[in-house]
Amino acid sequence: MSPDHRSTYDVIIAGAGPVGLFLACELGQAGRRVLVLEQGDAEASSLKQLPFGLRGLNLSTMESLDRRDLLAPLRARMEASDVAASAPWVAGARRPAGHFAGLQFFRDMVDEDAWPWRAGGATEMLAVTMADLEHVLAVRARQLGVTIRHGCGVARVAVSLDGVQVEAGGVTHQAGWLVGCDGGRSTVRKAAGIGFAGTEPEFTGYSMALRLGEPNPLHPGRQHGAAGMYTYAPPGIVTLVDFDGGANHRKAPLTRDPVQAVLRRVSGTDVVVEAVDLATTWTDRAFLAARYRQGRVLLAGDAAHVHAPLGGQGLNLGIGDAMNLGWKLAAVLRGEEPPSLLDSYEQERRPVAEQVLDWSRAQVALLRPDPGAAALRNVVRDLLNTRDGATYFAGRVWGAGLRYGTLAAIHPLAGRSAPDMMLADGRRLDEALRSGRALLVDFDPAGPLAATARPSTRIDYVIAGSRLDPGIDALLVRPDGIVAWAGPTGDDAHGTGSVPHA
Ligand SMILES: Cc1cc2nc3c(=O)[nH]c(=O)nc-3n(C[C@H](O)[C@H](O)[C@H](O)COP(=O)(O)OP(=O)(O)OC[C@H]3O[C@@H](n4cnc5c(N)ncnc54)[C@H](O)[C@@H]3O)c2cc1C
Repeated sequence: MSPDHRSTYDVIIAGAGPVGLFLACELGQAGRRVLVLEQGDAEASSLKQLPFGLRGLNLSTMESLDRRDLLAPLRARMEASDVAASAPWVAGARRPAGHFAGLQFFRDMVDEDAWPWRAGGATEMLAVTMADLEHVLAVRARQLGVTIRHGCGVARVAVSLDGVQVEAGGVTHQAGWLVGCDGGRSTVRKAAGIGFAGTEPEFTGYSMALRLGEPNPLHPGRQHGAAGMYTYAPPGIVTLVDFDGGANHRKAPLTRDPVQAVLRRVSGTDVVVEAVDLATTWTDRAFLAARYRQGRVLLAGDAAHVHAPLGGQGLNLGIGDAMNLGWKLAAVLRGEEPPSLLDSYEQERRPVAEQVLDWSRAQVALLRPDPGAAALRNVVRDLLNTRDGATYFAGRVWGAGLRYGTLAAIHPLAGRSAPDMMLADGRRLDEALRSGRALLVDFDPAGPLAATARPSTRIDYVIAGSRLDPGIDALLVRPDGIVAWAGPTGDDAHGTGSVPHA
């Protein structure tokens, strides 16, 4: 490849999906030169709009967005649309809090005291479309100086010890690092020789907007049959899973006849499909990248992990990757940290992905069209109707229970998302994190920390509005909002590690 020396960047990101764009914002905010290469055109596809582009943002993702002042613009965009009304988890007399394999649990059963450190944060999932989320992220990325090129699919990658060369749209670009955010079939992952392994699909899933003939025998809501399961929202939105081993995913065009055949088989009816307005397929293939980093190439989002969309976790998992990786890569690029800091990205995020993959596999097992799965669904439904059961499932679905075990030995709060507490200057902690820097939160302004804290380009010193816990004089919060250290700063500090300097 002969490089175009005019285009040299700190980081090239392959893929302008939500994960690539969020990461671009992180690096742009840190003052890095970032190029995003996207193979698709700038126009959002109809699959990213209602009804199939609907996504549920969990509490972790909403926190991340809030910590970068992206939640308010996204909410404003959503309020101007009818998206919330389309989301099944915000509708109904009894407020649903999420689902597992389609079995709902409800807010009034969830014990929010189970996550005492989360006090003050968001408590509602947010319904968005992919198109709106990507729009808000792209606007911010451009404001931060990020270059986004559409119609430029990454075709080839060459990696050396000191950088990468990336060929896209007939041009070769240079950068220090390349991050593959280019989805489940990632070109970057393959070019870097990173393996992708896991469990093969059991079903082909279909999301379809159909025109159905009368009389229409389909029953609204979720129905289980001999070959799989379908969900019908009149007049013509059908989501179904056909336990065919994934045989029909991306095989034949989704025209009237094959669509009618699979819908008849799964529903066990003689439904008539008059026309297919929109249709796409997906599977429950659950694969994980063998490594998240190969030299100067990193992976994030679906490029690193794919699984069934059941339970809506993939986007949230990917945004979590980007939030974790962004500040670390920026610190390495600024020369503040060695590249080995990036190892902690995989150490922290891979276990989360493994859990999500298993979460999706467990849901697939419950959907199987056999009597054992039907019996298990009844057991899980009963558990979801208990307080402990609903709280357990909420912890996983909302992302409220997230904790990085790498930091767990330091303090019960370390490795968890910092509570969105009030600070003495009137801001919330999540607002203070919008600088993109770490925070040293002092709960004891008359104590030793206030006297020794020095101005720093990496850590902001802030004073908490009130005590969180009698045993905590200070918190060190990473730029991604994760507590890195917590403890006493005075005479009791022995054995808790040295107090970090601001
Ligand atoms: C039906 C369905 C429902 C879902 N519901 C939810 C939900 O409710 N909640 C949730 O959290 N998740 C959900 N997901 C999963 C979620 O959509 C994905 O996990 C998420 O979009 C991943 O984001 P990403 O940016 O990693 O990848 P993508 O969104 O796939 O974006 C990748 C981008 O890379 C581009 N690209 C690909 N190849 C190249 C290349 N060679 N060069 C340059 N660009 C390239 C693509 O065009 C694309 O724009 C759902 C998925 C499906 C299919």
